[in-house]
Amino acid sequence: MKFQITCTRCGCTQATAPDTHHEWDEIHCEECGEFLDTCGHFEDRHAAGYHVQALNMSRSLILQMARENGWQGDSAMAGRRSA
Ligand SMILES: [Zn+2]
Repeated sequence: MKFQITCTRCGCTQATAPDTHHEWDEIHCEECGEFLDTCGHFEDRHAAGYHVQALNMSRSLILQMARENGWQGDSAMAGRRSA
């Protein structure tokens, strides 16, 4: 099992954990073997980060859509009013 974690010791971004993938399995740097995290802890943080990221993305998308729809709506209404 491979993980994308930046090693605090050598800066390598490749880390591996046993394929058993238990929560308590340790993730070690591929380069220097430094202990970086456990699978369970990493998944927790990763899941939380992903949800926040998804929330921010959908929020900015909604704002963008609202802005675009607002502009389109204004011009459509203006067109209807003048016609
Ligand atoms: Zn390392």
